[in-house]
Amino acid sequence: MSDVFMNTYGRLPVTFNRGEGAWLFDTAGKKYLDFTAGIAVNCLGHNYPPLVKAISEQAAKLCHVCNYYLSDVSVAFAEALIAACAGAGMKKLFLANSGAEANEGACKIARKYSLVKYGKGRHTIVTLRGSFHGRTITTLSATGQEHFHKDFGPYTEGFVFVPGGDIAALDKALDPKTVAGFMVEAVQGESGITPQSQEYLDAAAKICAERDILLMFDEIQTGVGRTGTFLACEGYGIKPDLVTLAKGLAGGIPAGAVLAGEKAADVFQRGDHGSTFGGNPVAGAAGLVVLETVTKPEFLKEIGRKGNKIAEAITGWKHPKVTAIRQKGLMIGVDLTIDAHPLLEAGIAQAQSGSPGLLMLTAGAKTLRFLPPFIISDAEIDQGLGLLKSLLD
Ligand SMILES: *Cc1c(COP(=O)(O)O)cnc(C)c1O
Repeated sequence: MSDVFMNTYGRLPVTFNRGEGAWLFDTAGKKYLDFTAGIAVNCLGHNYPPLVKAISEQAAKLCHVCNYYLSDVSVAFAEALIAACAGAGMKKLFLANSGAEANEGACKIARKYSLVKYGKGRHTIVTLRGSFHGRTITTLSATGQEHFHKDFGPYTEGFVFVPGGDIAALDKALDPKTVAGFMVEAVQGESGITPQSQEYLDAAAKICAERDILLMFDEIQTGVGRTGTFLACEGYGIKPDLVTLAKGLAGGIPAGAVLAGEKAADVFQRGDHGSTFGGNPVAGAAGLVVLETVTKPEFLKEIGRKGNKIAEAITGWKHPKVTAIRQKGLMIGVDLTIDAHPLLEAGIAQAQSGSPGLLMLTAGAKTLRFLPPFIISDAEIDQGLGLLKSLLD
């Protein structure tokens, strides 16, 4: 391993140089079944041929124009994305490069919406305990986990946390005199695959609508088909005011987006926001392939079916080390009686023994997280489950 990188990641001892479908190959040629999809990024797997073709062709035509101009492909991508999110009431968007950048944009919109309409002092954004919204100073400030709030202060003011599932606490926190927005993950990803209940999100939507507080869905992990509907909010029948996307949006090329419904669509005016790389043509070409594929109803149905298959299989084991399973589409959390991280190491070490390795994620110390690529086959799922079971045993 190289020592020129800053020490930010607890990296596992493997270096990849090739991928194909649900498989990654290391520099020694050993193969690993990918139950991570690069943390929900490689949603169509690795080297998906139509994606490779679109990226290559676009790179040969045009890689970048600055945002003083449009490119044909970013227009096509933006219109396709709005069409894909029309059911959730989305009208306009801003294209960015990452999740944190998308959430920053959403926070700016919520604050300006409130400032213009109600004046100063109504800028608080309420988020959930256990949430994860990004790594910039503001999105760390929005993240409701204490251990992220240690070394980088002063943090951005105006974020308040409430426990998920507690409607009374939310009702109290959403003070119409001080609060501009409520930001929520329909299923918390990073902190353990925790879905919010229908009742809770219905109540949040109702309170936000009544008090003119913007309802902001962070769909950076849940969006783009991950939970079995194109947006997770659709699965709940909720139309947020703002939705943020990134991760799977361009299938492995950096891309993010802030989408706004009617209320917030025209908050940003000329000069309010920008991003040099936002709307990049190569990302747009990749994103178009993702949208064409992942918006198909039969494809979305398969995501749900495959996710259920994994959850049902693990439940069926009644394994003494498994205490709970939470799953929505291909977002799966498995609580264990033991630490999860050593299993990630063992999954990689397994590849040294002749058997394929298994790539997994954690979500908290004792929770395994699986975010397989959508194109994974039933046979590959069975193989992955077999590897998992032997690791648990
Ligand atoms: C990954 C993630 C982010 C941050 O996205 P980056 O692209 O890493 O900035 C924000 N919110 C959620 C829910 C995420 O899963």
